[in-house]
Amino acid sequence: MSLIIIGSVALDDIETPFGKVEKIVGGAAPFACLAASYFYDKVKIVAIVGGDFPKSEIDIWKAHQIDIAGLQIAEEEKSFHWSGKYHIDMNSRDTLKTGLNVLESFDPIIPDSYQDCEFLLLANLTPQTQQTAIKRLQKRPKLIVLDTMNFWMDVALNDLIETIKLVDVLTINDAEARQLSGEYSLVKAAKKILKMGPNYLIIKKGEHGALLFHEEQVFSAPALPLAEVFDPTGAGDTFAGGFIGYLAKVGTINFHNMKNAVVYGSALASFCVEKFGTERIKNLKSAEIAERVQEFVNLSSFNIEN
Ligand code: AMP
Repeated sequence: MSLIIIGSVALDDIETPFGKVEKIVGGAAPFACLAASYFYDKVKIVAIVGGDFPKSEIDIWKAHQIDIAGLQIAEEEKSFHWSGKYHIDMNSRDTLKTGLNVLESFDPIIPDSYQDCEFLLLANLTPQTQQTAIKRLQKRPKLIVLDTMNFWMDVALNDLIETIKLVDVLTINDAEARQLSGEYSLVKAAKKILKMGPNYLIIKKGEHGALLFHEEQVFSAPALPLAEVFDPTGAGDTFAGGFIGYLAKVGTINFHNMKNAVVYGSALASFCVEKFGTERIKNLKSAEIAERVQEFVNLSSFNIEN
């Protein structure tokens, strides 16, 4: 039994009101794999990097027991490069550059040792590549989670719609839910998106938490009110990794476990934004994760007095 995470691995240039960094490790897969590794010890990555990618970073993944048999290193090429700039409210950002580089011709090879996959996270990547990964698994995993972004809605909408049909859970943010459905109301948007294929839909609302939709049920998870958000990059990927990592640990898929998974994912994401890139989520202690989850519980639990 294992959890495969396929996604971009990047070198990012990021500017926030707190500072500017260049060529730091980012991309969907590192955030998601690190987050999942706190819950589950059979996390396997499928990704590609160029010769410019720091080997020391790969050693950190190995130290987190992340299996790298599916990591391709194209020595002669450049890693995927993304650059973004956040504004003062940190909820909106401008993508300044997306340099696909190695991602342009990425062929997601699934090693034989990965065929025991029961949980699959299709983290942010070309929808076509995400689809290929599903088709290359000999047995359909018990749970397929898809994370994507507006970029793919703009440049590959038809492929994305075909991919969405194949998955159990879709995670997107509020603006993306509105773009995908053409509905402003998130409740109406969720109804339309659930008809597109997935059984569960998670709409992330940044500092306003996340909504989980399933049939007629809705669950609302808060976000931790943080005094300082340093760099929101990767919060969504960290959420997705924590979410599926928790589900892989408990093993059973139902609405109750999904609700807990949303809270665990949100807790991990709240750490991610405290520092640049993957810095904060590289060295978390289980006690601090448990404490953070308890803060989430305290934040929204109340008794109604009659
Ligand atoms: P998030 O903040 O969760 O949306 O994730 C940000 C990460 O996604 C950054 O580290 C980027 O390198 C990566 N990223 C940005 N654009 C794309 C894209 N079009 N495809 C895959 N990954 C991307």
